[in-house]
Amino acid sequence: MKNLKQLVRPNIWNLKPYSSARNEFRGEASVFLDANENPYNEPYNRYPDPLQWKLKDRISELKDIAREHIFLGNGSDEAIDLLIRAFCEPGADNMIAITPSYGMYEVAADINNVACVKVPLSDGFRLDAGAALDAAGSNTKLVYLCSPNNPTGNLLEREEIFRILKYFKGLVVVDEAYIDFASSPSLLRGLASYPNLIVLQTLSKAWGGAGIRLGMAYASPAIIDILNKIKYPYNVSQLTQEWALRLLNRQEAMQRELSGILHERTLVETALQKLPFVQQVYPSDANFILVKVDNPDATYDYLANKGIIVRNRNTVALCEGCLRITIGTPEQNNLLIKALQTRTL
Ligand SMILES: *Cc1c(COP(=O)(O)O)cnc(C)c1O
Repeated sequence: MKNLKQLVRPNIWNLKPYSSARNEFRGEASVFLDANENPYNEPYNRYPDPLQWKLKDRISELKDIAREHIFLGNGSDEAIDLLIRAFCEPGADNMIAITPSYGMYEVAADINNVACVKVPLSDGFRLDAGAALDAAGSNTKLVYLCSPNNPTGNLLEREEIFRILKYFKGLVVVDEAYIDFASSPSLLRGLASYPNLIVLQTLSKAWGGAGIRLGMAYASPAIIDILNKIKYPYNVSQLTQEWALRLLNRQEAMQRELSGILHERTLVETALQKLPFVQQVYPSDANFILVKVDNPDATYDYLANKGIIVRNRNTVALCEGCLRITIGTPEQNNLLIKALQTRTL
């Protein structure tokens, strides 16, 4: 890995960040007249903690990782964008993303006028570290990986990820939005050995918190400092910080929901495999299934007409013919399967 100063955009390295009222005073006080807030209408009249320490302490405990390794944002989408803004000079630097994968990597790159070099997954949607390393040039600052991958559902091979971490000179972002559903553990423990690793997780999937917008980025304290320097001062609202703590304190209930979803995933997989127009059900380590069918657009429309909305991935390269189906409640999954079983073409 190059050193961080060689990787960060010079203007970001030299940036003097905005210093908020909540940053400048640290300690105990009872009279806050420093932030031009209205003193009435508690509790949301006050600005929230800009660095969300209480929430980070809870996450630190749950994930067994020091809080200096944690950045919190308005969904993982915020970290995806901030990393590009921090490390890629618009019009000059580039980044790599696997394809097919989550669309936000490329959209965030486009918004920032940063070229996104797409490296196709190989047969079985497997990561080819050699292909990713070959695609990297001297101006490649970031590689975006997603494991389990969206929309394919599979985990990327750890050994291939480690090869990229070892030989790539820039930063490697591993998006683990679906890791709680997976059969193998997170790469978080890899942070100790790889200073260029950034792991993204979120409350939006397994934790049931998509509506509150909270995403986590885990990385070296030096990388976390850079993200904190360029984020909006109050990027995570008080309401979000509070609700996130509630969600993180219902770990057992979450685990039960998770087991239920995994059980349902097997049932849906089995039922899908029996349908005559289903060509392939791809193995999933996430809470959705990618399935290849004879007439994807017609199948999508048929389901939509019945009020059942799945994700049509037919136009995504390497996903031709595919629909992506989220695992719902048993009732919802039954409705889906019934609808597909009674379909006459
Ligand atoms: C759903 C999803 C996310 C979650 O993004 P948030 O902004 O945290 O809601 C991130 N990455 C991938 C691959 C996803 O599918």
